[in-house]
Amino acid sequence: IYPGSVDAAGRPATLGVLGGGQLGRMFVHAAQRLGYFTAVLEPDAQSPAGLVSHHHIQTDYNDPAGLAQLARLCQAITTEFENVPAQALQMLARTRPVAPGAAGVGIAQNRIEEKAHFTACANLSGVTCAPYAVIETPAQLQAVLDDRADLLPGILKTARLGYDGKGQVRVRTAAELAAAWAEMGSVACVLEKLLPLTAECSVLVARGWDGQVVSFAAQRNVHVDGILAVTHAYEGNMPPALATRARAAAVSLAQHLDYVGVLCVEFFVVGEGEHADLIINEMAPRPHNSGHYTLDACNVSQFDLQVHTLAGLPLPEPRQHSPAIMLNLLGEVWLDASGQPREPDWASVLRLPGTHLHLYGKAQARAGRKMGHLTITGPDVASVQTVARQVAGLLG
Ligand code: ADP
Ligand code: MG
Repeated sequence: IYPGSVDAAGRPATLGVLGGGQLGRMFVHAAQRLGYFTAVLEPDAQSPAGLVSHHHIQTDYNDPAGLAQLARLCQAITTEFENVPAQALQMLARTRPVAPGAAGVGIAQNRIEEKAHFTACANLSGVTCAPYAVIETPAQLQAVLDDRADLLPGILKTARLGYDGKGQVRVRTAAELAAAWAEMGSVACVLEKLLPLTAECSVLVARGWDGQVVSFAAQRNVHVDGILAVTHAYEGNMPPALATRARAAAVSLAQHLDYVGVLCVEFFVVGEGEHADLIINEMAPRPHNSGHYTLDACNVSQFDLQVHTLAGLPLPEPRQHSPAIMLNLLGEVWLDASGQPREPDWASVLRLPGTHLHLYGKAQARAGRKMGHLTITGPDVASVQTVARQVAGLLG
């Protein structure tokens, strides 16, 4: 699908996205820069992506009329969140190229299938996931209580719909586990062993319809309360051999899935140095918060690659031209110590060298809500770190 082209019926080349959050907004920006028209399917009238798209179809994600309209408007369709119903993707795929496909998205939206997939790929990828057990029935809970003391202390995670640390409870004892599962409504869960993490990292891979695959170097991520807070993207952010292993594992997973689109694979690091253990945590079938620095620090961003994969354009080899630190801007930045609204001191922040502010157009600031992010680039790692500290001080 060539950018700027017009089909026989006179319709401009249009790319569609399911979901209207900030990831969709940045996809829309990238698509529009290449001259594509865009369509967003999202029920919320004031969504970050809907506000900036040529077309905004305001229906539910599985509304047949809305999906049919999206298919009519668009030459190809992607998604910006993993909880889009698999049937919606399947329905769209009957008449239009859809990437990623329902299979990959289906695996990523269910922790049980995801871990089974990681385990099946372990020989290929060279990484395993944390020790875990599936808890879907009272009998499975009992079996874990009886025989899997090795998983405690652990984290009980709902199989579906968890994000930013939601749908997770830390449990220390068998009694706490039983109570937590009941508290979660006895829904399908996994119990995962709590690991002594020394670091976390992620890798972004983009793969085209023809199997061409490119990737970014591993970035190191710092989470606070289960939400990404800071991404460190520069040489030396982690031991090079570890970064290489993570990158190779992520690429092999994308290939094994026959994946088309942008895939983010998250890893845990346990231990120190080159020989630390690398453990696969989860994958996201879309661009990822930890890849936002690519907008300002690389020749091509994760969103550009999402557009290129979807449209069937060649994938440029990513090259980072500047060290970068990305700071997530949560609602707290707009609230003072007593929870009253305040305007952050952007003038002081933007006066600092190499600051790139991205706001998502969300009107309401709430604690924990992702309102924007700020990337700091600079000539060397030390100056980027210095500015990052100054920004954190101004916004803290
Ligand atoms: P989400 O879908 O909310 O991102 P994750 O499974 O990635 O869920 O968990 C969020 C964060 O919680 C992780 O980035 C990590 O910091 C912490 N965490 C999750 N699982 C474990 C574990 N098994 N051991 C230690 N920390 C964990
Ligand atoms: Mg995660």
